[in-house]
Amino acid sequence: MERLIPRLRVSSVHDIDLDKLAEQGIRGIITDLDNTLVGAKVPEATPELAAWLKEVDRRGFKVVIVSNNDHTRVSRFAVPLDLPFIHAARKPAQRAFRQALSLMGLKPDQTAVIGDQMLTDVLGGNRLGLFTILVQPIAIQDEGWGTRINRRIERYATARLKRRGLWQEEEKR
Ligand SMILES: [Mg+2]
Repeated sequence: MERLIPRLRVSSVHDIDLDKLAEQGIRGIITDLDNTLVGAKVPEATPELAAWLKEVDRRGFKVVIVSNNDHTRVSRFAVPLDLPFIHAARKPAQRAFRQALSLMGLKPDQTAVIGDQMLTDVLGGNRLGLFTILVQPIAIQDEGWGTRINRRIERYATARLKRRGLWQEEEKR
């Protein structure tokens, strides 16, 4: 259960303190796509997100998109941004995370994972010892049935973690 706890919780990627990440020795970011960078039904980056990615790049972070979605979806998003990606990643399985690490040439303790799901992004990242960052999903109404089931498990898990004092109500900033 503790493996579902992210190291950091924020509202969106824009709330991540990039200076602090760099200070911690983080040099690469593995990021989820759907409902993390854009809504699950938004095909391309918004101008705000493109600006954020540019800032991330300017600061020297490497970025790989790791998504459980299919090639059509992920490539249409990632190719215009010139970002490497891994599709059909089967998170929380570790294979795609390891592939992303080797693409970046980084170790787990130099890498953050950003995602909106505890059962895929956070669990997979924590298992490998990556710095896990949970964002709030951008558009919950567009999620498929598999994700809806995961959300129910997330609610159950956070309720239990709260009872054990392992999950604070307030988001950390
Ligand atoms: Mg997602």
